[in-house]
Amino acid sequence: MSKIAENIIRFREIIEPTATLVAVSKTKPNSDLQEAYDAGQRHLGENKIQEMTEKRETLPKDIHWHMIGHTQRNKVKYMAPYVHLIHSVDSPRLAKEINKQAKNNERTINCLLQIHIAEEESKFGFDKQELLDYLNSDAFKALENIQIKGLMGMATFTDDKDQVRKEFKVLKALYDEIKTTDLLKNKDKFTELSMGMTGDYEIALEEGSTMVRIGSAIFGSRD
Ligand SMILES: *Cc1c(COP(=O)(O)O)cnc(C)c1O
Repeated sequence: MSKIAENIIRFREIIEPTATLVAVSKTKPNSDLQEAYDAGQRHLGENKIQEMTEKRETLPKDIHWHMIGHTQRNKVKYMAPYVHLIHSVDSPRLAKEINKQAKNNERTINCLLQIHIAEEESKFGFDKQELLDYLNSDAFKALENIQIKGLMGMATFTDDKDQVRKEFKVLKALYDEIKTTDLLKNKDKFTELSMGMTGDYEIALEEGSTMVRIGSAIFGSRD
């Protein structure tokens, strides 16, 4: 069995009882993605729309493609026909564009709102007040072709496990809080909390993650 297949099987045993495994295949060749597929993996994550769209052309059509990276609005149209879940909706303007392209394709696109939980300035996303203001806005209520499935966040890149845990707790609390409000349409579909990657998935699962995004521990380190 290939190393990738072994990793897929091992991670699914660890993760799938409580959460969905998204195997993050960015920068890797399609032969690697096919190995993951052959081991039974159907959820793959990419961070660039163009790369994801090109890879998809020659891979099996029953793969669920997850967009996990910061997204340029002018490229949304390329993934709108097929994307399974966009984890990285980090601004009202992006949400509006996704809604428009979803409508053009006569579909509803599932989205997670990305929340800024890390200490680092560089991470994208809404902070708590921005999120609540947005969910209360008319602009948000006008979106008919987006389904908000949950929240996504990335913890600070640090060895300090207490810091990471604290940030995941903040995200989980916000997720629980939004669940109790009446701000969402189809609130019963608000079920996903995407948190955890290679370095911090164990903590994320302990703190209530329903979706982990694992790249290098499955496919090997990236250049
Ligand atoms: C690359 C990436 C991952 C996976 O990172 P690993 O540390 O390789 O597991 C997860 N989430 C996002 C948003 C990423 O960009």
